[in-house]
Amino acid sequence: MMDIQAKIKSQTEKIFPELVELRREIHKHPELAYEEYRTAKLISEYLNALGLEVQEGVAKTGVVAHLKGEKKSEHSKVVALRADIDALPMPEETSHHFRSTIEGKMHACGHDAHTAIMLGVAKILSALKNHFGGTVKFIFQPSEEKLPGGAKPMLDEGVFENPKPDVVFGQHCIPQVPVGKLGFYAGAMMAASDELYFTIRGVGGHGSAPHRAKDPIVAAVQLVTALQTIVSRNMPPQEAVVVSICAIHGGSATNIIPNEVKLMGTLRTMNETLRKDAWQRLEEITHYTAKAMGVEAELEIRKGYPVLVNDKTVTEFAMACAREYVGEENTIVPEPIMGAEDFAYFLQVCKGTFWQLGVGNEAKGIVHNIHSTRFDIDEEAIAIGAGFTSYLTYKYLTLQ
Ligand code: ZN
Repeated sequence: MMDIQAKIKSQTEKIFPELVELRREIHKHPELAYEEYRTAKLISEYLNALGLEVQEGVAKTGVVAHLKGEKKSEHSKVVALRADIDALPMPEETSHHFRSTIEGKMHACGHDAHTAIMLGVAKILSALKNHFGGTVKFIFQPSEEKLPGGAKPMLDEGVFENPKPDVVFGQHCIPQVPVGKLGFYAGAMMAASDELYFTIRGVGGHGSAPHRAKDPIVAAVQLVTALQTIVSRNMPPQEAVVVSICAIHGGSATNIIPNEVKLMGTLRTMNETLRKDAWQRLEEITHYTAKAMGVEAELEIRKGYPVLVNDKTVTEFAMACAREYVGEENTIVPEPIMGAEDFAYFLQVCKGTFWQLGVGNEAKGIVHNIHSTRFDIDEEAIAIGAGFTSYLTYKYLTLQ
């Protein structure tokens, strides 16, 4: 008799061509945040055909489905699995026959693969449902790429009720991790991200007579420099914090002092306390630098996703399963990254873990980062993602 891992591996192998087709079908038809109607239809049709209870239109274009195990068990658990389904507003520059057919839109973050993988998990676990008890909750989430994200609205609509999950799992394609490998990190793995918008208002005038103006350009550059002290002087050196001013707009000629300068930037923090401390310093430095320079300044902080914190025990459990499934040498601990991900909201209300799925392959030229017009994945990762997620879910549901 085959053990469960062998059963999952053979199921995965059997449906692999179908999953690749699904991924390519989604890839050809990328849809932006909250416009994922075609993708949502494909997802619900697939899940309906498997006989799952499917709920459509959750947070507009999200899909939720439940699979019930049929084995009698005393400890009936609920495992939530999340895949994000949206694409990006950017052109695709690959030469694949299945490249985007929609001008200016591309699945450049691998959400097409995340979706195909999770559909695969639904099929694999459906075929094995007499081997486990409990429930698997599949969450297909819209709008990961665009603030305020789809995770929070799904939670507000009760995605974590009826039944309430004991644990939540998710993953992301990472081209810097070679295909075959899975990366796990216990603790804060991804940053909180906030958007910064500054407006500096002075009084314009002739460039030859600065004493009759209030120069917002000199104030803006003083401010950019002063903001660097948040990381260098206010934050503990052991902690990762980023303040980057990435845009500066103002002025039109060599001899005109403008009325106004606008700056845009980003704040990244790995800890919610330091995040709030940084907000306060941003406000203070903006206000007082402007005051010192005789101009007025306004700062708008658009709050983004929170810090993504993986539960230690759950992450260790997932790593132990990964060692069994992909081997010790393929189970790695990556560096935390300063990118943000709204899976963080799910982890705020339920313990769980989010891992990195290796999709890179230098030999095949698959090296371009996410959000690149040439982003690509080694499709073997779909089989690893689907097989491993199925194995981990089974192991959790059958945990005594
Ligand atoms: Zn992404």
